Amino acid sequence: MTMIRYGILIVSDSCSSGDRKDLSGPEIKNIITNKSTDIGKLLNGTITCEEIVEDNEYKIMDFLATWCDQNKVDVILTSGGTGFSERDVTPEATKKIIQKEAPCIIFSMFLNSIKWTPMAMLSRAISGIRGKTLIINLPGSHKAVKECLTAVAPAISHAVDLLLNDKSSVIKTHNAVQNFSFKFCHTPASTEMLGLHNVSERSRSSPYPMISVEEAKSIIFKEAYVMNVETINISNALGRVIKNNVYSQCDLPPFRASIKDGYAVIASDRAGKRKVLGGVKAGSTTTILPKLLPGTCIRVNTGAPVPDGANAVVQVEDTKLIETLNSEEVVVDILISPKAEQDIRPIGSDIEKNSLVLSENIKIGAAEIGILAACGCKEIDVYKQPVIGILSTGDELQEVGEPLLPGHVYDSNKLTLMSILEENNFKPLDMGIAQDDEMTIVQTITNALKAVDVLITTGSVSMGDKDMLKPILKHYFGATLHFGRVNMKPGKPTTFATCMLNNKKKYLLCLPGNPVSATVTTHLFVLPLLNKMQGLSSKPIIVQAELTSDYQLDPRPEYARVTLKWSDKIAKAYSTGNQISSKLLSCQNANAFIILPGSTNQKTSLKAGEYVPAMLLGFNQ
Ligand code: AMP
Ligand code: MG
Repeated sequence: MTMIRYGILIVSDSCSSGDRKDLSGPEIKNIITNKSTDIGKLLNGTITCEEIVEDNEYKIMDFLATWCDQNKVDVILTSGGTGFSERDVTPEATKKIIQKEAPCIIFSMFLNSIKWTPMAMLSRAISGIRGKTLIINLPGSHKAVKECLTAVAPAISHAVDLLLNDKSSVIKTHNAVQNFSFKFCHTPASTEMLGLHNVSERSRSSPYPMISVEEAKSIIFKEAYVMNVETINISNALGRVIKNNVYSQCDLPPFRASIKDGYAVIASDRAGKRKVLGGVKAGSTTTILPKLLPGTCIRVNTGAPVPDGANAVVQVEDTKLIETLNSEEVVVDILISPKAEQDIRPIGSDIEKNSLVLSENIKIGAAEIGILAACGCKEIDVYKQPVIGILSTGDELQEVGEPLLPGHVYDSNKLTLMSILEENNFKPLDMGIAQDDEMTIVQTITNALKAVDVLITTGSVSMGDKDMLKPILKHYFGATLHFGRVNMKPGKPTTFATCMLNNKKKYLLCLPGNPVSATVTTHLFVLPLLNKMQGLSSKPIIVQAELTSDYQLDPRPEYARVTLKWSDKIAKAYSTGNQISSKLLSCQNANAFIILPGSTNQKTSLKAGEYVPAMLLGFNQ
């Protein structure tokens, strides 16, 4: 896509004279040229003209008209001179050189600004067209220009295409504007409204009540809906949850099958010599064989049908070859007298036709797939799985593989969480890394929610000035925050929200950024949510485990990572080492979380030898 050429005209007596540093010009420039942000992408620009001019109507007109008429710019953004001061004449100058007005551009900016400052009413800014150039008056304050540009950014590229009569991209940019979330353009929130603008003014205590892990789980369970049903081929059914009871379509075995390689005999003939009438292999029929009479036998392989008339199979080890002709067996000696029905699987002895083989709402594993195949069941009704996205947030994060920049760390959460979900047969989507920038997060979540039913995020939910997820969800997405703090360690700021998008309920589980916290909360909250949605009601297995070391108790119940080993029928819990929430090594080799109670005045520690509940990882019942 061709870049849009922008001209920036700063209108200010004091900046023009050098008495004051111009902050708006660099801010506008940065917004337009920073392609890593969503506004930057929308504005898609390069700066071809820039100037600082005093509040002088003729000089302003001169710059505007010259830039337009010399075809140097597609869009001119002026900043300053739109207020009520005597010297403010930017709108007057603009009005005199434009040929057509474009008032709704200013109206759009106004709608955005008035939501958070009544000062917006005092703007006299205008917008209009001269030739093929769009001119927009922005306010002078560098803080306000971002708000205003955010409001108009989605429509700029299409406006330029229309002015340039660029038929090749006009439909594309039209659709892009149409698809853009209206909420995003005209949100009631702003950085200032969300309380994110000033680190010294951030709240120092969380407004969210602290609830217990059990309460949090039951809220999730209550909110989660069960997905619809689809019919799939059993070869794709691993890990899916069965909708209805399954009944076998056939008997297994469907014929009397030999359990051994040997000879089908009449048991009442007892031990002794037999004439061998022929042989039957697995997969063949017995109809071509001569009828079995007393004193005769027929050679059979394992899995072969037992001929009519035979009521026992004698394994080859219990026979002796007596006579051959042209390499064929003619007579064998049965060494041990057979019992009736020995080494024969009767029809339907493994699975009876029409019998219940799998119950509704169970998860399909390897055995279940085998059973379905054995029963002649090619397709199966299962619950759909939710579409899940995993998003990391944080300015400090980098994708693994890139050279590490100063102050940065590799994003480990995304891959850890995706792997936990994959271990549980879900197929999560990688939603990337969002920088700690309000509009970037808003845009990333907007896009993600269009694609997924459940969005799992990590980071940006604690008490830092860059932890903006909760207010963003409320204000931009109208989300209901069901909880924002859980009485647990690690994982306290875990947040669960739902919102509606295109009449569909969307789930957001926002986990803390520390890798161990994200891992623990995925096991405790994400998996139960997803399981409920895919129709599974199984619960984690909790066993009693003996501590092998002492623990200081935290005021919050703690989910400590351990390796459980069984000795003398007792599960013993071995700590995986330092339990700080940043140290992912503590999750390695962990096969359980022991649940340490919160400390009380009476009890502040637990000693080796005491018992605690331990939640097994990877096992449900
Ligand atoms: P936050 O929850 O955003 O305050 O982050 C808490 C800590 O977790 C910080 O030290 C972050 O650098 C770290 N962190 C956040 N997200 C990730 C991630 N995706 N991978 C690894 N570390 C992370
Ligand atoms: Mg962060």
